[in-house]
Amino acid sequence: MAEKFGDYRGTFKSTSVPFEEAKELHEPIGVELANIHRHDAVVVGAGLAGEYAALELKRAGYDVAVITKIFPTRSHSTAAQGGINAALANLEEDHWEWHMFDTVKGSDFLGDQDAIELMVREAIPVVLEYEHMGVPFSRTPEGKIMQRYFGGHYTDFGRGPKVLRACMAADRTGHALLHCLWENCVKLGVRFYPEFFVLDIIAQGDRCLGVVAWDLVNGGIHVFHTKATLFATGGYARLFNISTNSRANTADGLAVMMDNGFPIEDLEFVQFHPTGLAGKGFLITEGARGEGGHLINDKGERFMSKYAPDKMELAPRDVVSRAEWQEIIEGRGIGGQEYLYIDLRHLGAEKIKERLPQIRELSMKFVGVDPIEAPIPIQPTGHYSMGGIPVDINCRVLADGKSKWLQGMWAAGECACVSVHGANRLGCNSLLDASVHGRRAGRDIAAYLDVVECWEPLPMDCAKKAIEEVEWVLNADGTEVPGKIREVMQVNMYRKCGVFRNEQELTEMYDIIKDLQRRYKNIRIQDKGLKFNLDLEETIELRHLLQTAEVIVASAINRTESRGAHWRTDYPKRDDENWLKHTLAWRTDEGVKFDYKPVVITRFQPEERKF
Ligand SMILES: Cc1cc2nc3c(=O)[nH]c(=O)nc-3n(C[C@H](O)[C@H](O)[C@H](O)COP(=O)(O)OP(=O)(O)OC[C@H]3O[C@@H](n4cnc5c(N)ncnc54)[C@H](O)[C@@H]3O)c2cc1C
Repeated sequence: MAEKFGDYRGTFKSTSVPFEEAKELHEPIGVELANIHRHDAVVVGAGLAGEYAALELKRAGYDVAVITKIFPTRSHSTAAQGGINAALANLEEDHWEWHMFDTVKGSDFLGDQDAIELMVREAIPVVLEYEHMGVPFSRTPEGKIMQRYFGGHYTDFGRGPKVLRACMAADRTGHALLHCLWENCVKLGVRFYPEFFVLDIIAQGDRCLGVVAWDLVNGGIHVFHTKATLFATGGYARLFNISTNSRANTADGLAVMMDNGFPIEDLEFVQFHPTGLAGKGFLITEGARGEGGHLINDKGERFMSKYAPDKMELAPRDVVSRAEWQEIIEGRGIGGQEYLYIDLRHLGAEKIKERLPQIRELSMKFVGVDPIEAPIPIQPTGHYSMGGIPVDINCRVLADGKSKWLQGMWAAGECACVSVHGANRLGCNSLLDASVHGRRAGRDIAAYLDVVECWEPLPMDCAKKAIEEVEWVLNADGTEVPGKIREVMQVNMYRKCGVFRNEQELTEMYDIIKDLQRRYKNIRIQDKGLKFNLDLEETIELRHLLQTAEVIVASAINRTESRGAHWRTDYPKRDDENWLKHTLAWRTDEGVKFDYKPVVITRFQPEERKF
């Protein structure tokens, strides 16, 4: 590997507190403090949000470092297939106001409308900027950016037919965007620290002074001292056994914030995508329905006609996933089993090959079905996290969840909650959220660095917590296997905290998590080495997932209504009187504590959501 990539991780030099002194203080604990780095800004995460921010900071002339636990271009953004929304109106009439309405309605009126307005307006310059940076978008015959249909996007404030809004690079849009950002970052000389696993932030009072990370390749703890920290750590859908998400999506950013006593917002809202490859969860993009794919039950019926007679397969994801699960419960899954079909055959071989090449490949490779010849088996799959670290519209992290800034700290992308998705995200609004807010965060950090000159000294014990955790996992000598704990969590989360929820199953799930957390205290890992110890990494990720699952389930028990992706069969109605508000949740030793904050409503008053 070293031969192939050469010195691709660079050399690590720089000190802020006297290195020998700090090292000495940490030595008695055992695991080595390898280095202390100093950069104007430190970005954790190399998906669209992190890399867009880094690019902005570098363009502004700042020394920015991007830390990522996997190689940058393997971040989950690269897996995004369908597209990125912007009301460019390249093929038919569209307006950002329509995009805004669809996003608000899609969010089941829980999205903050000031933030949504900013996002949909900035969508247009952001997509054009991508174009100028060199993204190879698919093209219209005149050479403009190609746009496709996606669920939940309509004309005339939801009153008219569907609209072509999702800008696409075939069904590899995320790949095209992320590689383009990465090339631009490399060109400008952004400093990357790949395969560094962030374990903690350095929070001192109401300030964040940096992060502490584990060097996955060589072992050893590294401290990153900075004036500005941005979390862009992505989502957590690895909580479910059926999931579209990549291995790295394990809620680290959320868990680190909770560890430090900060709240998390709206965690009960988890999106289940309607078309995961049956039994696996891999995504069959909504673009497949956008291009005209039909959802079919065991009787060969296009069952969406019963649930969303007007919008059919292009109703928002929460509506389609519930319809699928209802069909399965009522015995109309294929052969009575837990899956249905998406049928693309009528689109014809040419369109499938041109517009959905990756979908065809996935389906052929993993379930042996060529969609040109046969329908693809699908089921709802854990996909996206609407909630996250509470931030304001400039992506500044809110220490109290409401108004108090944790100075020096920002969050953007899927790990953050602005909140532009409310209770349910619309397809293709997430690459947009990550891009717009990565860019906004980068610009806000640059403006902050323009005025903040002095460096706050680091507390001498800033790496202690992280060192202790690594030490504990390496030395733990119990009997439980972490992989088994993860499996029990994932299987049960999909069943008991999935598309449909009720108090009994959620309470059972909460007890299961508490039991798994007890079992976690009695683990033992096989690999005791320091170099590329995935056993160590995955075990710490498991703690993060368990902690996040605990807050998701507690928040789901707490919210006694049905809204967007959070559907309680025992409370099947939306309850605006009591629940038109955001949840703020703190994880404490005495359980999860709650507070609330109002939804920002500017243009559109809540109304009943019909499709
Ligand atoms: C299969 C799939 C298809 C999708 N398709 C679409 C689509 O068509 N359109 C759309 O709008 N959205 C889509 N989405 C959603 C969208 O891709 C994501 O929400 C978005 O890309 C998230 O970007 P991000 O920058 O927030 O995080 P990510 O791209 O997930 O990146 C997270 C980064 O954080 C780093 N990281 C995490 N924890 C740590 C740690 N502890 N230490 C160091 N680094 C860490 C990771 O290494 C990674 O670099 C799709 C998602 C999936 C899973």
